[in-house]
Amino acid sequence: MPVPKRKRSRARRDSRFANKGVEVKAITECSNCKTPLSTHSACKNCGFYKGKKIMETKIDRAIKRGNERQSKVAKAQQREKSMSAAQASEQSESKE
Ligand SMILES: [Zn+2]
Repeated sequence: MPVPKRKRSRARRDSRFANKGVEVKAITECSNCKTPLSTHSACKNCGFYKGKKIMETKIDRAIKRGNERQSKVAKAQQREKSMSAAQASEQSESKE
């Protein structure tokens, strides 16, 4: 029966298993924004998959929120303007 000539040191034995957990993942590029991506997944940066926008990203939501806020502010300003105009007309009527 063949038998190893020498004992394998712990370091030699363990170094054999050292690379077992290492896995090289395939990486591609987003077609829209060129960020590195894992294959067959939507881009988290721009929400594109296969050249189409398929999901809303964090940035999109932030922009949407900003637009909503701006429109709210604009409406409030318009309301204030109309209110002040109405008050002014009321005051001018009372003076006359
Ligand atoms: Zn992208």
